[in-house]
Amino acid sequence: MTITVWNEFRHEPASDAIRSIYPNGIHGAIAEHLSKYDGFSVRTATLDEPEHGLTQDVLDATDVLIWWSHIAHGDVTDAVAERVQTAVQQGMGLIVLHSSHFSKPFKRLMGTTCGLSWREDDKHERLWVVDPTHPIAAGIDRYIEVPEAEMYGEFFDVPTPDELVFISWFAGGEVFRSGMVWKRGYGKIFYFRPGHETYPIYHQPQIVQVIANACRYLNNDRATVTGIGSCPHQTESPESLRVRA
Ligand code: ZN
Repeated sequence: MTITVWNEFRHEPASDAIRSIYPNGIHGAIAEHLSKYDGFSVRTATLDEPEHGLTQDVLDATDVLIWWSHIAHGDVTDAVAERVQTAVQQGMGLIVLHSSHFSKPFKRLMGTTCGLSWREDDKHERLWVVDPTHPIAAGIDRYIEVPEAEMYGEFFDVPTPDELVFISWFAGGEVFRSGMVWKRGYGKIFYFRPGHETYPIYHQPQIVQVIANACRYLNNDRATVTGIGSCPHQTESPESLRVRA
């Protein structure tokens, strides 16, 4: 399975504090952790590369794309956002992390505002597993505790998910749908809330485990995809073909 980890990569070069947590960038950290899993071939791409590192060839060869963005959503070209959307409809998996709820590809795929509420208060978060037999929750006990987190609260304006895997509880009293799956065409999208550039959340083993589980769950055999996005006029019915045969 080929996994591409994409990051806008704007916070890390600009802050010593953030770079001390993610010296090779958030994308580098996630790629390094995922590379230890059997069967994963992991590469990275960033915003400032030509075509944001997401050429058609790269997307064609990607089974699962992981997306992290925060302050530069608007710098992603509409052409690349549309290319990612189309790749998902054709079967590519997409994992959307944390502040990427406002990324162009996610908003296009959801068709909603994707707004939510938030507060940076350095308190703990508990992600409760609400679908314990879901493959994305494999190996996770009743909950994951994140010692320091930014709060994200409802209402999170996304379509009702096809599958809900995690709900977060925050020390301030808010709750949030933190792990959700949608199907679009032949592809699946997993939104996973944990993250934030000032916390070492992407080094936490349970968080990495969930992302790895999601890669396996979202991976499709893209070679089997036919006909998505077309509107063929079926001039003959299967029954007329059968009778003629
Ligand atoms: Zn954040």
